[in-house]
Amino acid sequence: MKNITVLATGGTIAGVSHFPTDTVSYQPAVVSIEEILNEIGSIQSIATITSEQITQVDSADMSHDIWLQLANRINTLLNQPTVDGVVVTHGTDTLEETAYFLNLVIKSEKPVVLVGAMRPATAISPDGPMNLYNAILLATSSSAKGKGVLVALNDTINSSRDVTKTNTALQDTFKAPELGYLGYIVDSHPHFYRMPTRKHTYMAEFDITGITKLPQVDIIYGHVNDSGTLAHAAVAAGARGLVYAGLGNGNMSQQMKNVLSDIQRKGIVVVRGTRVGNGVVTRNGALDDDQNNFVVADTLSPQKARILLMLSLMKTSNPAEIQNMFWTY
Ligand code: ASP
Repeated sequence: MKNITVLATGGTIAGVSHFPTDTVSYQPAVVSIEEILNEIGSIQSIATITSEQITQVDSADMSHDIWLQLANRINTLLNQPTVDGVVVTHGTDTLEETAYFLNLVIKSEKPVVLVGAMRPATAISPDGPMNLYNAILLATSSSAKGKGVLVALNDTINSSRDVTKTNTALQDTFKAPELGYLGYIVDSHPHFYRMPTRKHTYMAEFDITGITKLPQVDIIYGHVNDSGTLAHAAVAAGARGLVYAGLGNGNMSQQMKNVLSDIQRKGIVVVRGTRVGNGVVTRNGALDDDQNNFVVADTLSPQKARILLMLSLMKTSNPAEIQNMFWTY
């Protein structure tokens, strides 16, 4: 049997409600990972499982400090020949961000699977136990090796780069809209149909060994009549990079173009993303990036562009080099 370590961080999968019919009003991050695993009778038959409670938080309280702790722990575990894979239990609200961060800093081909639940553990029909069962099963599978950090909920397998939470309350919420699932898990069998095409994990150049703080990068949400107040405030508060969740193809008003160009000339890296949710932000498309020294986010959501920009800034502040990283990851 394969050896899988489950690292628990909290979320709804560990949540408790007053009534078994409450699926959205409850207290997340209460039940320990040991109790959750004990509730799934058949789970010890698919792997030899060890677990660690890394933290116990609503994923709104996920932080860079926990990310660094989690990533270092996963790297240490996967370095051991006796560990075959890692599963991380996580709240669903920021699961996609943690998954993409790990996708860029884990130095192993072994499976790493993030899992959560939309219904608390006390619901009449919770999704957590089956999701966790499937995630552990996926982590034991050689088919999950070398595909980067995966996200497994609701019988589906997603790539951490492309997945996002698409519905605030339904179980069927984690999707890569338009780009699609990597596969399904049916009757205890993972079925893969696609591969991530961008570099990840063991191929990535980012090293968090010894790092205690990530560079400050803020997201500015584009809208009509944006005067740039928040962009200036972010820079005044120490931002080394900004992600602009722009209009359409990362577009912005003349006013914002002036504001962000001025900010860029001060040495702050500006990434043009989009608030649209799907599609490529194209270089020199909505405006002249070569002239403004902006970087485009490609298809990364603003919250994932922020993560890649933070890691990129640990290596360089050169917009051209950072643009290459956005084409690569
Ligand atoms: N608020 C919860 C969390 O992200 C939601 C969930 O896990 O579904 O921790």
